[in-house]
Amino acid sequence: MEQQSLFHCGMTAQESAILQDAQPGVQSEPSLDDYDRFIVFFSGGKDSVACFLWLLDQGISVEKIELHHHLVDGREGSELMDWPITTDYCTKFAASFGVRMSFSWKEGGFEREMLRHEAPTAPVHFYTQSGEKRQIGGVGPLGTREKFPQVSADLSVRWCSSYLKIGVGEAYIVNDPVFRQGKTLVLTGERAEESTARARYKAFEPHRSDNRDGVRVKRWVDVFRAVHSWKEAQVWDIMRKYGVNPHPAYHLGLSRTSCMACIFGSPQQWAMLKTYMPRHFSRIANYETAFGTTIKRGATVEATAAKGIAPELDPYWLDIAMGNDFTAPILIEPSTWVLPLGAFGETSGPT
Ligand code: SF4
Repeated sequence: MEQQSLFHCGMTAQESAILQDAQPGVQSEPSLDDYDRFIVFFSGGKDSVACFLWLLDQGISVEKIELHHHLVDGREGSELMDWPITTDYCTKFAASFGVRMSFSWKEGGFEREMLRHEAPTAPVHFYTQSGEKRQIGGVGPLGTREKFPQVSADLSVRWCSSYLKIGVGEAYIVNDPVFRQGKTLVLTGERAEESTARARYKAFEPHRSDNRDGVRVKRWVDVFRAVHSWKEAQVWDIMRKYGVNPHPAYHLGLSRTSCMACIFGSPQQWAMLKTYMPRHFSRIANYETAFGTTIKRGATVEATAAKGIAPELDPYWLDIAMGNDFTAPILIEPSTWVLPLGAFGETSGPT
């Protein structure tokens, strides 16, 4: 699983495929009746929420849908990068809609992969749909990182989403035999207006785990970027329609729910981290010093944070965001729903 691709958070190793303009005559939208199951790759962010709600709008029953979340920090106790609340927000979101929730993760998460020294990349873990715990990989070639993923166009150094999300999601689909039966549609939430690169993604194509023409093992899996052409206002509108309380990151003023300490963070975000999440910030700053390599070329996180001004955060939402129990309601009365502070705000994040 030594893949160099990015998908949820950035450019993919299959860029040549994804970046092609849609070919004339190629189907650009799936016929939903063709599929036996729908998997939304669910970050807890607004765009993946919108993909799920769009499925409901199309009349797809929740029994056919699964929300699948990749745990960036793994499940073994590291908490370097992600919002502590995200796992519980996703879990409670799924419970509120009565939809199946599943998780996959690389053992040790971001931190173990970053600290890799003459060791193979860690195995991937998940539970199959029949409830069996599976461990995949962990015996690949030896390698050393000892640095953060770099804010760079070079995919060989910008490794986080490929190793912690894309490859993990692919391992899940490839290794659960349930996906060899019938047809699966994966939904992901990239939108064209987020970046030039995303604007050129195909809305609909075979998923990287697809093997429909396989001789020994057949697996039919497509991916549909259901909100690819949507404007941000449409995303908030569908959340309002269903009365979905957004992830706390939006209430704190961020416009995206990526990792709390996303490598693409703006000076403002690093200043926020330094002020309100000082333990996370200093661990990251200390790692930069120990590695002798910064996340951003030519600027430490300290220097980046110094260029920003920490916003004033709502203590109620900060407390929830930094905990692991989402105590606010997931569903609220649509007539009382209001846009969160981060709506239509600064959009520094994965490309
Ligand atoms: S640090 Fe940013 S780019 Fe990397 S996995 Fe997290 S959200 Fe994606």
